[in-house]
Amino acid sequence: MMKVNIEEKKQKLYAIYDQYEKDVVEFKKASACVIGCADCCIDVGKIDITTLEGIIIRDKIVKFEEPLRSEIKERLEKNRVEIEQKKLVRCAFLKEDKSCLIYHIRPFSCRQLYSVKKCNGAAPTIHRQAIELARQTVREIQRLDSNGYSGHISYILYLLDNRNFRRSYLRGNFEPEKIALFGRSHKIMINRFSSP
Ligand code: SF4
Repeated sequence: MMKVNIEEKKQKLYAIYDQYEKDVVEFKKASACVIGCADCCIDVGKIDITTLEGIIIRDKIVKFEEPLRSEIKERLEKNRVEIEQKKLVRCAFLKEDKSCLIYHIRPFSCRQLYSVKKCNGAAPTIHRQAIELARQTVREIQRLDSNGYSGHISYILYLLDNRNFRRSYLRGNFEPEKIALFGRSHKIMINRFSSP
């Protein structure tokens, strides 16, 4: 199996993010989002990421100083428990001042969110065309991450914390049978099969 050039994939991922921003720039001009509003980091409850995005976020977490690194780990664990309990989860990366700890590397799930109306706890109101562009972008990211998976940020980071899983993924191996049980019970999607 050929080793994945992860750096090249990261650059391609950033280019996809940039292209999406260009494609939706006109729609976002109508956005009601303001700094300090983090409704979508608290009330949406489903921030899904790909393994490729997870690797970028994990690299950032391991560079955090203590006690922040341990706090994030605890918050991610709490997220996993809350999801099992079917609760809405506050993102582990949301700071007390409602800014994002990983803003510059936030995943596409966060980048696609905006609303033309103040949410006030409800779902965001997004242009239909922007939703379709976001769907296409998700498929493009999944195609790029073709030996990887998609799922809630806390689950993907949990998988990547497993050294054997991480090494195998970074080597370019495609072994969905190894995570089949966890995958089924935690709604993990196999990118190769979910991105025609
Ligand atoms: S990663 Fe950042 S932008 Fe995304 S939900 Fe978490 S706090 Fe919000």
